[in-house]
Amino acid sequence: KFNTNLGQHILKNPLVAQGIVDKAGIKPSDIVLEVGPGTGNLTVRILEQARKVVAVEMDPRMAAELTKRVHGTPQQKKLEILLGDFMKTDLPYFDVCISNTPYQISSPLVFKLLNQPRPPRVSILMFQREFALRLLARPGDGLYCRLSANVQMWANVTHIMKVGKNNFRPPPQVESSVVRIEVKTPRPNIDFHEWDGLLRIVFVRKNKTIAAGFKSNNVIEILEKNYKTFLATSNTDDAMVVDDKASMTEVVKNKIDQVLTETGFAEKRASKLDQTDFLKLLYAFHQVGIHFA
Ligand code: SAM
Repeated sequence: KFNTNLGQHILKNPLVAQGIVDKAGIKPSDIVLEVGPGTGNLTVRILEQARKVVAVEMDPRMAAELTKRVHGTPQQKKLEILLGDFMKTDLPYFDVCISNTPYQISSPLVFKLLNQPRPPRVSILMFQREFALRLLARPGDGLYCRLSANVQMWANVTHIMKVGKNNFRPPPQVESSVVRIEVKTPRPNIDFHEWDGLLRIVFVRKNKTIAAGFKSNNVIEILEKNYKTFLATSNTDDAMVVDDKASMTEVVKNKIDQVLTETGFAEKRASKLDQTDFLKLLYAFHQVGIHFA
């Protein structure tokens, strides 16, 4: 009956379902977005607390089952089901997000939420345990990675509860955890793509030195291309210095060396650096016209 390719693991423990919904701190005026409502075990509980629920479900059979479940109840008119893939759906405004997430889309789902024009005040999300621990990991922790550093720039993440596999039907392969994600307000005044671009380079091999990450030809090529764009769109004297391809590459390489040396990060490793370190690095690169997006 269930399609595990769509991550259909129904939460069957009512205490866990109620716990998740209660942790969201829903106000009677709130619009709540639910991703993947399935048969509606969370949805019916959210409907009791919220002004409106928008539920995005990809499987028409599940959507039909949920429609039937609320049909004829007072909650019926508060529920709007959007049939389709969450990643391809244009979202309306919502205050809170709750999801027992299809684990296949964990990472894109988080970034889609964070990058909404008006992101939700709070998101309560069930993930497989290791993904949740990555979201929470701090510099020096074994699971600290690009995802940790990226998400923690935009949001505060806290662990809410562990959920064992036997709370689901059918049980998934792995244990799960529920986390709370609260976006920082105001949003840090940093370009998402610049931040992401830098992290992609330094976390390719998080235990290698930062300098090693910048040695790759691929990276240098991208930074050189960005640098040319930067020169073309700004009035800088540097434009006079370079005309042929070889010298342009040298200019960019020298700038990279200069920034890594002057900031003292050349021999550091991303696995041990925190947000402030990466910000210092990003600003230093921007000072010399090097951009990551
Ligand atoms: N929320 C229900 C619960 O807790 O019992 C069901 C959770 S089940 C883990 C995930 C649900 O997400 C399934 O109903 C599945 O059909 C749906 N789903 C999977 N991928 C999706 C996607 N890309 N967009 C929207 N829904 C999706």
